[in-house]
Amino acid sequence: MLQRTLTILKPDTVSARRCGAVIDRLEREGFAILGVRTLHLTQTQAEAFYAVHRQRPFFASLVKFMTEGPIWVLALERENAVVHLRTVMGATNPANADPGTIRADFATSIERNAIHGSDSPENAALELAFFFPSYELV
Ligand code: GDP
Repeated sequence: MLQRTLTILKPDTVSARRCGAVIDRLEREGFAILGVRTLHLTQTQAEAFYAVHRQRPFFASLVKFMTEGPIWVLALERENAVVHLRTVMGATNPANADPGTIRADFATSIERNAIHGSDSPENAALELAFFFPSYELV
């Protein structure tokens, strides 16, 4: 089933100038790019995006990281996009990420882990709507 999902190339990926390398991998994996935005999240936006983690001990640190510099946000489409993106990303902690995954190759810590990907079709729909008006997706 053709499905959409959302990915964010986090500030560590942008500052390391690895957006091209990550996007190349995503395209090789068969993802079509339906929309792209570059933006620098405000604290309020980052807190809203990660609201589900508000009670976690790392929340303040995560928000600080996600607002430290620009991010690239991409709307992606592929068969089984949500699960496949999570597979290609690798585990949250790069120490546990399978070899060849984006996080295994580009993440430097459990927090500075290069890329975000929606974890369910429901969250993909919410996260796509957070960043893209539906009419902007081709
Ligand atoms: P994801 O779905 O793999 O991105 O992981 P989560 O939804 O559990 O966490 C969201 C983001 O919070 C992760 O991608 C990391 O950037 C950060 N994070 C998760 N767990 C930790 C942690 O234990 N410590 C710190 N400092 N950051 C974390």
